[in-house]
Amino acid sequence: MKLYNTLTKKKEEFKPIEEGKVRMYVCGPTVYNYIHIGNARPMIMFDTVRRYFEYKGYDVNYVSNFTDVDDKIIKKAVEEGVSTTEVTARYIDAVKEDMKNLNVRPATVHPMATQEIDGMVTMIQTLIDKGYAYAKNGTVYFKTRSFEGYGKLSKKNIDDLEAGARIAVSDEKDDPMDFVLWKPKKDGEPYWESPWSQGRPGWHIECSVMSKKYLGDQIDIHAGGEDLIFPHHENEIAQSEAANGKDFAKYWLHNGFLNIDNKKMSKSEGNFFTVREIGAEYPYEVLRFFMLNVHYRSPINFSRELMESAKNALERIKNAVSNLAHLSENATEKEMTEEEKTFLDSVIALKAKFEAAMEDDFNTADAIAAIFEIVKTANTNLSADSAKQLLEETKNYIVTLADVLGVDVEVKEELLDTDIENLIQERQDARKNRDFKRSDEIRDLLLEKGIVLEDTREGVRWKRA
Ligand code: AMP
Ligand code: ZN
Repeated sequence: MKLYNTLTKKKEEFKPIEEGKVRMYVCGPTVYNYIHIGNARPMIMFDTVRRYFEYKGYDVNYVSNFTDVDDKIIKKAVEEGVSTTEVTARYIDAVKEDMKNLNVRPATVHPMATQEIDGMVTMIQTLIDKGYAYAKNGTVYFKTRSFEGYGKLSKKNIDDLEAGARIAVSDEKDDPMDFVLWKPKKDGEPYWESPWSQGRPGWHIECSVMSKKYLGDQIDIHAGGEDLIFPHHENEIAQSEAANGKDFAKYWLHNGFLNIDNKKMSKSEGNFFTVREIGAEYPYEVLRFFMLNVHYRSPINFSRELMESAKNALERIKNAVSNLAHLSENATEKEMTEEEKTFLDSVIALKAKFEAAMEDDFNTADAIAAIFEIVKTANTNLSADSAKQLLEETKNYIVTLADVLGVDVEVKEELLDTDIENLIQERQDARKNRDFKRSDEIRDLLLEKGIVLEDTREGVRWKRA
C-alpha cells in the first residue's frame, strides 16, 4: 500500500510500526460553531482511510480530538452570556450528530483538550527541563531554534521565516520564531493551575500530548487539512520529538481544500455552508459520495451541479444493487455455466482494481470508477436467467466495496403500513387454510423488513423494530 507522505514529498510503501496495527491521529475541529462542509472533508476522507485499513485486516487505533478551549470559543460564550462549557458541549454534540449522518464512525477515542491539561503541563515541564522551552512572566515559549529539525514538514527555512515574521510591539520572546506553549489567563477566561501561571495551554501542545497518551510516542499516521502543515503540524513535531527524543509520526497525510467559487471555504471568510444546511438539501450520503469523487489531495470545488451528478451517480449504483437483489430473489439455484464463471472472475478483477486504486494513495475517484465498471457489466450481462449465486455474489461485491467508502448502497425497501396490513391479512388467511408454510414465510418476510408481529387475544399487532 502506497501513501503520499508530506514529510518526504513522496509516495511511500506503508509499513506500520507494529505488524497488523495502525496508530492514527487526525486533528479535529475547534468546537464553537456547526462544522462546515470543508471541515467534513478530512472527517470523511480519513474515516475512509480507516475503513480501508480495516477492510485489509488491520487493527486501527484512531484518535481525533476536540479543541474545546480557544479564543473563538471564549468569544462565543461571552457573546451569548453562557459558559464556555455550555458552548463546547453543544457543538461537540452537534459534530457527533453530523458525523453520524455522514456515516463517519466515532474515533476509538475523542479526547478533549480541557480534560488533558495535566498531561500538557507535564510535557511543557519536560520541554523546559530539556532546554527546549522557557517561561517569561507566566508565559511559556517553545525555543524554536533549539529544535534542529524545525521546518522539515513544511519545507520552510527558519531564517526565511524569521525575515518574514512581524515583530510584535510587546515582544518578550527571545526570538520572534518562538511559539506559545502556555499563556496566563485574562480576566474572565477559563484557567488552570500550573507552575508558571493560572492560565491555559497554547493550541499546538494538545495534539502532541493526546497523541502520546492514546497512541504512544511514535505513531504511523498523522492527518488533517493542508492548512495545518504550518505552523500546527510543524510545531507538533517540534514539541513531540523534543520531549520524547524519538521521531513522531511516520506518515503525514493532508487533504486539499474544499473551495467555493475557487476560494477556500472558511468560517472567517464567511463563505461557507454548514453540513446541516447541505444535509437539508441532499441526503447526507450524497455529500459523502461527492467528496470521495475527487482525490483527497486535490482541491474540490463545491457546486450544486456536482452535487446533482453525485446524487445521480449514487442512484445508478443503488438501482443496480436493487435490481440484482430482485433478480436473485426470483432466480433458480443452479450451477454456474463456464461463461458465468468467467464473468464472476471479471468482477473479481474489478474488485482488485478497486483495491489497487485505494492502495495508490487512497485514490477514491478511481476506486469509484471500478465500482461503476462492475455496475455497468452487471447491468448488461446479468438477467433473470443468471445463476442465483452469480447474482448474489456480484451484488455483494458492489455492496462491500461501497461500504469501504462508507456508502450504503443496499436499498432497504420500506414497507408501507397498507402493505404490512395486507400481508398480515394474507397470513391470517393462510393460517385459516392451515397453510402454515405460507404463514411462516410471511412472518419471516416481515421480520426481515424489521416488522415484528405479536399475536394477541384482540388479533395481530405489529410494530417496526
Ligand atoms: P478547524 O476547526 O478550522 O481547525 O478545522 C478542522 C479541520 O478541517 C482541519 O483539519 C482543517 O484543516 C479542515 N478544514 C478547514 N477548512 C477546510 C476546507 N475548506 N477544506 C478542507 N478542509 C478544511
Ligand atoms: Zn493537531
